Amino acid sequence: MRLLEEARRDVLAAATPLPIVEVTLDEALQLALAVDVVAPHDVPPFTNSAMDGYAVQAIDTSRAPVRLKVLEDVAAGHVATASVEPGTAIKVMTGAPIPDGADSVVKVEDTNQIADEVSISIAVERGTAIRRAGGDLVAGSTVFHVGDTLTPTHLAVLASLGVGHPMVRRRPVVAVLSTGDEVVGVDAETLSPSQIRDTNRPLLKALLAEVGATVLDLGIVGDDARELRNRIEQGASQADVVITSGGVSMGEYDLVKQILGELGSVEFWKVAMQPAKPFAFGTVAGTPLFGLPGNPVSVMVAFEQFARPALLKMMGHRALLRPRVTGRLMGGVSTDPAKTVFSRVVATFVDGGWEARLVGEQASNVLSALAIGNAFAVVPLGQAEVADGGAVELEMFRWPSIRAFEEVADGQ
Ligand code: AMP
Ligand code: MG
Repeated sequence: MRLLEEARRDVLAAATPLPIVEVTLDEALQLALAVDVVAPHDVPPFTNSAMDGYAVQAIDTSRAPVRLKVLEDVAAGHVATASVEPGTAIKVMTGAPIPDGADSVVKVEDTNQIADEVSISIAVERGTAIRRAGGDLVAGSTVFHVGDTLTPTHLAVLASLGVGHPMVRRRPVVAVLSTGDEVVGVDAETLSPSQIRDTNRPLLKALLAEVGATVLDLGIVGDDARELRNRIEQGASQADVVITSGGVSMGEYDLVKQILGELGSVEFWKVAMQPAKPFAFGTVAGTPLFGLPGNPVSVMVAFEQFARPALLKMMGHRALLRPRVTGRLMGGVSTDPAKTVFSRVVATFVDGGWEARLVGEQASNVLSALAIGNAFAVVPLGQAEVADGGAVELEMFRWPSIRAFEEVADGQ
């Protein structure tokens, strides 16, 4: 039996970074930078007004109220032709370049213009309402680093720098295959008495989309040795990673296990964890392969603990694991001390702290608890229980961010 952490270390060691590619900003969301980003120019690129108002010399306002002669109006996107001299002002809009000679802006609310004269009602200090060139980012400085994940705001910052083609690691193509004679697709109109619907493929495809991978859907294969071998070989030749589900435990028809044994250097692991204890990992024709268990909850846990961090590493991300918080487990739980146990919980932030409650049936075939839940309560190896209200680590696979319309309308 391997420890979870050891197993993950071995999986991560086999996950090698994908090639570096240049992408447009439209393609870059969720990808990881492969090269540091150095600012090619200042942001803002020029010193400009933070307000609609009047560019002045601050010293002129020290004896406010004071009248100044307005030389011209400058909108955003235009440049003043005159300079501000003592006793004068230039009207500027937000984002307009600060005219030569001016050192501050008086906002329009503190002024009153009649014809070409403006009366300034307050004294301002030098620099008021001025956004300096480079005040956000300075030309030549390193703005983002290799391994940073590109979020919407990262993309906006890249745009502000004129970096329209960042260098990133490309998206992995991941082949997904469900196995088992009993498994039929979501569109099957009726189920015979021995059939169940394929939940693992939709689950894995969506988890992969969330990571930013491209899915190669290899469908469902029955427990047929030849067909399984073909499909797995197809996946290995066309994708960067293959993920199968089912057929890797001790059953007589656990063919995936047999075929993986023949096809490649795949190891069958018993990891000291629950669920997802039996799973396979290795390479087929040089392509990493995850042979996940059949039970859907095990699929999710094994994906989250092994495949997701491996994919993120291949994509070049620095951060590989979901965030964990410490919370109180209401009602407590008893667990097998020989395993790291992942219990499905609903975690909520109450009175400044996290509280979690087990959801529904904890058996590894009960998917609905995962849809209701938003976190795994992780009880480590060596611990047999968490007392009612006791501290537990919560691995957040979804942050609770819901505030119903009625609550928002109520000002909550
Ligand atoms: P196995 O690992 O093939 O023995 O499967 C373990 C359990 O998971 C069995 O009850 C299977 O019917 C179920 N299972 C296998 N594959 C899927 C799937 N794609 N969707 C839903 N359940 C599955
Ligand atoms: Mg099976």
